[in-house]
Amino acid sequence: MTPYGYPSARITIGDWQNTHVAFIERHGTKHSIPPHKVPYKANLAALKSLGVRHVIATCVVGSLREDLKPGTFVVPSQFIDTTWGRDDTFSVDKRLIHLPMSEPYCKTCSQAAVKAIRNVLVSVRSDVTVLVIQGPRFSTIAEGKMYAQWGGDVINMTQYPECYFARELGLCYTAIGSITDYNPGVSDGPSMSTMGTPDFENVLVVFRQNTDKTILALRQMMLNRHTFVGCCCAETSTRHHYED
Ligand SMILES: [Zn+2]
Repeated sequence: MTPYGYPSARITIGDWQNTHVAFIERHGTKHSIPPHKVPYKANLAALKSLGVRHVIATCVVGSLREDLKPGTFVVPSQFIDTTWGRDDTFSVDKRLIHLPMSEPYCKTCSQAAVKAIRNVLVSVRSDVTVLVIQGPRFSTIAEGKMYAQWGGDVINMTQYPECYFARELGLCYTAIGSITDYNPGVSDGPSMSTMGTPDFENVLVVFRQNTDKTILALRQMMLNRHTFVGCCCAETSTRHHYED
């Protein structure tokens, strides 16, 4: 229990590749918590209280561009937030926090993630923009076209406010996204819009393959953790707090 409620799941703590690791499932152990109900604040606060310094978030994303094919991994450098009604700051009366968000993701850690993904022979695109929608519904074809025009490369429901909470807490945050499908209307390839039809099996196949590859990439990151543990995310965050 945190001052912000219970995290979405019990946090598993252990050693992996000689590194202390804490693992939490943001949608709960049974994947029952929808994106707009995930207790992002409690999750990040709980990780912080355990002494976590680097958050490496894995997520599933849909492609807004034909050249970003399902099975490709992405490491975002920017997000566009279109969510609404989510509790998205630790700011309270008399303790106002203004933080820069021009570079929401840790560059040092992102480079390490890209290297790790390449090391396991998986196609990866860096510096992508993730468009965050409210969910839980998927977007329409028209919305997808608009998001691509806005500059979105991939679409997701959970990167905001998770990414921002890490910044407010002085935690380093990096995301590894795996493309499972095309957003409706982008291509004839696998799409979530086929859910309930035999074609949806193609999405599930990509999803399972991506999960296995994600674990391999994370293991590579842990093996080369010396390349990112010295990043200055905590320092950057705390330097920009302004209080009344
Ligand atoms: Zn960092």
